[in-house]
Amino acid sequence: MAPAPNGRGHDRGERRVTEHMETDTVVVGLGAMGAQALWRLARRGVDAIGVERFSPGHDRGSSHGESRIIRTAYLEGAAYVPFVQAAWRAWADLEEASGTRLVVRTGALMLGPPDSSAVAGSIAAAEHHGLAHQVLSRDQVAERFPQHAPRPDDVGVFEEDAGAVLPEAAIRAAVGLAEAAGARVLTGTRVTRVVPDPDRPRVVAGDTEIRARRVVVTAGSWLPELVPEAAGPDVGLRVERRVLGWFRTTEAPSPHAYGPVFARDGGDCTWYGFPSMDGGRTVKIGVHAEAPGNRGEGAQWGEPVDPDAGPREPDAADGRRLGRLAAGLRGLAPLPERMVACMYTMTPDEHFLIGHRRELPGLVLAGGFSGHGYKFASAVGVALADLAQHGRTDLPIDPFDPHRWD
Ligand SMILES: Cc1cc2nc3c(=O)[nH]c(=O)nc-3n(C[C@H](O)[C@H](O)[C@H](O)COP(=O)(O)OP(=O)(O)OC[C@H]3O[C@@H](n4cnc5c(N)ncnc54)[C@H](O)[C@@H]3O)c2cc1C
Repeated sequence: MAPAPNGRGHDRGERRVTEHMETDTVVVGLGAMGAQALWRLARRGVDAIGVERFSPGHDRGSSHGESRIIRTAYLEGAAYVPFVQAAWRAWADLEEASGTRLVVRTGALMLGPPDSSAVAGSIAAAEHHGLAHQVLSRDQVAERFPQHAPRPDDVGVFEEDAGAVLPEAAIRAAVGLAEAAGARVLTGTRVTRVVPDPDRPRVVAGDTEIRARRVVVTAGSWLPELVPEAAGPDVGLRVERRVLGWFRTTEAPSPHAYGPVFARDGGDCTWYGFPSMDGGRTVKIGVHAEAPGNRGEGAQWGEPVDPDAGPREPDAADGRRLGRLAAGLRGLAPLPERMVACMYTMTPDEHFLIGHRRELPGLVLAGGFSGHGYKFASAVGVALADLAQHGRTDLPIDPFDPHRWD
């Protein structure tokens, strides 16, 4: 079959269109962001269709693995703080509407040398916005959080307004509420083409074409394949592999049974983890990023992924690397008892991409969440619904403008 006539997208096995559907807004991809957008639209009474190639809460994208950190003193930049505050409010809405607990408040501990991004970035964001936080010496960390074995030059920052979001449960809750509010949900349905148009953009999925007033594209790691120009004609998004590992606790009662989520500067990488979410049996950790001098050729984490093939299965080498980090925690087995691989979709500056692009009329884009987007999904859903309905939002998304690299 010939490539898409407008040069957008690839040949992805399209069939002849025989079915037509009409709606106000189509949401392509019901992962972290799309599920929230669909729910917000449906709740406002907008006629909406959500299309998902797998099923809500699946384990083949970026939103599986049982837990995601939410924190407020945002080390990636103080500009995120008002947005994460909006996200807290929007998570509470979803919890109330679904009657489901989706956020577990644990507090967060950032650990590293005083000039590390985990420590210095969190303090800067907290001070800029007047957020409650405590700076702790190495000894105070060791005394208060005995599950951590800090390194000699480590200090800590603790904040209470932090915890874990339950990603699969939140996606299922939002999609369920969206359907209950009247949204149509097509699962096991892969969109093969997105066609921009100022009045009637459309998507093609197999033999079905859906015409709409607006198309919201929240395809995660597949965004670069579905809308290659999402960040501009010359700017690519990179899809990378990450691995999560669950380590068995070795003490009873375990010091990991309670405690804060955490992010730690590990010298050659930044890594993070959670208190036990299964009653003290296991602890999950993962690597967020190589240290800046450690990226590129020879980097241990972040190998490129073709999302259709999926990330390479975790192997023994992944287990050993995670084990070296887990040695910074007390009372854990040396190797993980299970691991999963997952995908990050990176923008060049590692900040999100949310909004419109002039050359792609009729589309609302959200992607490139660069490994730190989940906590914002509830607010991203509100922003996407605003953009689809009104073309603008009051939420603070200016830093995520898809035109910023032009
Ligand atoms: C290991 C790991 C740990 C992380 N930890 C944190 C954390 O602690 N805190 C945090 O805030 N963030 C974290 N993140 C980042 C966060 O999970 C992601 O930013 C977020 O999940 C991205 O959501 P998304 O909606 O863009 O992608 P996804 O949730 O992957 O959703 C995209 C959806 O689109 C669907 N789709 C794609 N193509 C098509 C198509 N052609 N047709 C139909 N459907 C399609 C996919 O099946 C998928 O369901 C982590 C990510 C990973 C991988």
